[in-house]
Amino acid sequence: MPMKIKAAVFHGPNQPLTIETLELDDPGPGEVLVKIKATGLCHTDLHIIEGHQPQPVPAVLGHESAGVVVAVGPDVSDLREGDHVVPFLLPECGVCPNCQSGKTNICLKIGERTGTDFSRLSRNGQRIHTFVGMGTFADHMVIAADRVAKVSEHASFEGACYASCGGATGIGSVRRHDVDREALVAVFGLGGVGLNVVQGAALAGAQVIIGVDTNDAKEAVARKLGLTHFINPDKVESVAAEIMAITVMGATHSFECIGAPAVMREAIAATNAFYGRCTIIGVAPSGSELTTPVQQLSMGKTVGGLLMGGVKARSGLPSLVSEYAEGRVNFDDLISHRLKLDEINEGFAMMKQGLSTRTVILFD
Ligand SMILES: [Zn+2]
Ligand SMILES: [Zn+2]
Repeated sequence: MPMKIKAAVFHGPNQPLTIETLELDDPGPGEVLVKIKATGLCHTDLHIIEGHQPQPVPAVLGHESAGVVVAVGPDVSDLREGDHVVPFLLPECGVCPNCQSGKTNICLKIGERTGTDFSRLSRNGQRIHTFVGMGTFADHMVIAADRVAKVSEHASFEGACYASCGGATGIGSVRRHDVDREALVAVFGLGGVGLNVVQGAALAGAQVIIGVDTNDAKEAVARKLGLTHFINPDKVESVAAEIMAITVMGATHSFECIGAPAVMREAIAATNAFYGRCTIIGVAPSGSELTTPVQQLSMGKTVGGLLMGGVKARSGLPSLVSEYAEGRVNFDDLISHRLKLDEINEGFAMMKQGLSTRTVILFD
């Protein structure tokens, strides 16, 4: 029997999300029903709301969440009612060549699982779409079990939720690229992801961690996490030159966490010419292209992307949530606002104005 749920529905770019009652199907084979306890507002959601990324409508957005399993469909053996769980953007089927490899976290089931048609939601018989087969701006969600990590019950839901996107993407990216005590790190954009790059770099013992952000208000929280230098690009002539002055030969590891091609160029320029690595984490508007002088790469510098910090859903995420539960990773200081679902538009308004670090919607 389909159940009634409450969700924030997206009807088109630059329109407020509306709180509506929808019908949610029972979990099918290989699926679970999750009661969502916390969901985070991420910049990727804002990109869609602002129309920078195509999304069929009407749709339920949201992809950062934590909750409790309330029902499992047929053929689900590793999750049961009452489990504390964190749904993840990527599946981990465990059997495809990529899941068997330690070199990537991109399960080859990604297309099947995250297609915009995957939805168990409807309203008066009309199908309601979801963002990447999730849709966490709702009090319940049906999702494929191989995208759901069972996590520690000692972690708060809001912290576990934040781990699943901002936390995993930021800290995971640092760990994937072997930041060590000699590392000179530059982080472009101190939002929900960038702050976790700072945190990850500090945990790895990096000697220099430079943050670049146009919002001076980000400096204080970033310093609390281990930032050693702060640059406001609006107040200096050249960010790359400033970073060269601090690091002498450039950042050994730079991370672009904004998704702006102009900032990517700058991040590449500020990276050590011989063995530096520039990692692009920010999600750029669809169709955008990157140009950069080829000569900059000829001495050995590498540039690449990474999705969700290289973290795997079921075999990687639970340990990060446990680190948080044990107090070794700090997400609490990054959660600046806690709202109810019907205040979600206010949450995005604050994000747009740079007034929040992470806003989490809490459900009863
Ligand atoms: Zn996200
Ligand atoms: Zn797989």
